Amino acid sequence: MKTLLYLLFFLSPLLATSQSLEQEIHDYRNKQIQEMVKDEFGPLRQNQIGYVTFFLPKQDYVVTADVEPLFNEPTFRMPTYDGTSNEYKRFGVLHFELHGQKLALTAYQSVALFQNPTYKNHLFVPFMDNTNGETSYEGGRYLDLSTTDIKDGKIKIDFNKAYNPYCAYSNGYRCPQPPKENILTGITIDAGEKKYKGPKNERNVNKNIAKNFNENEKTIINAADENSLMHVYQITENSELAVLKKPSEDINYNDPLIDKLAARMLLTVKNPEHAGVGIAGPQVGINKNVIWVQRLDKKEEPFEFYLNPKIIWRSKLIRNGSEGCLSIPEIRQDVKRSYAIKLQHIDRKGQVKEELIEGFTAVIFQHEVDHLYGILFPDRIEESSKIDYVSLKDKVEFQIKKETIRP
Ligand code: ZN
Repeated sequence: MKTLLYLLFFLSPLLATSQSLEQEIHDYRNKQIQEMVKDEFGPLRQNQIGYVTFFLPKQDYVVTADVEPLFNEPTFRMPTYDGTSNEYKRFGVLHFELHGQKLALTAYQSVALFQNPTYKNHLFVPFMDNTNGETSYEGGRYLDLSTTDIKDGKIKIDFNKAYNPYCAYSNGYRCPQPPKENILTGITIDAGEKKYKGPKNERNVNKNIAKNFNENEKTIINAADENSLMHVYQITENSELAVLKKPSEDINYNDPLIDKLAARMLLTVKNPEHAGVGIAGPQVGINKNVIWVQRLDKKEEPFEFYLNPKIIWRSKLIRNGSEGCLSIPEIRQDVKRSYAIKLQHIDRKGQVKEELIEGFTAVIFQHEVDHLYGILFPDRIEESSKIDYVSLKDKVEFQIKKETIRP
């Protein structure tokens, strides 16, 4: 009897903790799933919920980390799995011990979210461990933390809350790839969300998120008539660089000023003083998803205007070719780009269109669509410098029918 009492006395607090952890994790996951499902343009559909599975919550996956704050960190672009990138800043390094191993993860702040009052405290911790591709999602998992959770230089990390990037359930998302410093080799974190094995969605095109030109943009478009050139923003001007680096928004295809903007941008890209083969909204001060591209793959090589273009597939085959940019004075450099792409855009009636494009025209599209994410070609050069490529020269000989497209 005495032993039993003794055991009860000492076990009950433990039982209570594990039950409350189970409840806490259960509620956290439910809320997350319900939020994804309720949005018809969200990543998860009702019929997929049954495939979302988790490891059992375990107390030993809740750790306390020492926060090593980082100061004066530059912003950098974290590559995403869709072939673009988002701007982040390293916030701090979280040092902790898990199963007897000393580990560290870096917490990041999104430059775009930081400007939004609701998310300004948000810390993003993408990571990989030994389970990725086996029992968890191959592209890594994410943890959300908040700067407001830091107390006396410490923060709680609960790996039971690790969740899958939206890309696990659906195409059409821009999911950051965990940076090298957050790849935990030699440890198996069997906590949090498991690998998703259900059917994959195609993301619905949400035309409702499209916006009209704002007042500032209207002023720029209406500053002169439709036969007037526009000023081309330059990276050498700080205020103009800020516009060039800012991600653009979808434009409402009905906006009455589209024709005028299109006419003025076309004159600007064809300006004989510095003619280009493409131009994007931010280059004339308009952070909306609009581009002109010269279709070198079509007869007569016409310029064509595209609303809300997205590249929804990029070939693994890469070509290396020289590029310049109307916004970057006097340099041309070799940039690695996908040889072929699948483009999605909205036509002037609001219909979704898709097209496969290859060769140099595909390069122009990649360059112009990059502008819409705030990505400039030197960013691409830096990104590809970290990747190893294999030349195909000795392995395969590519040929093309005479005068078909520019390779
Ligand atoms: Zn450019």
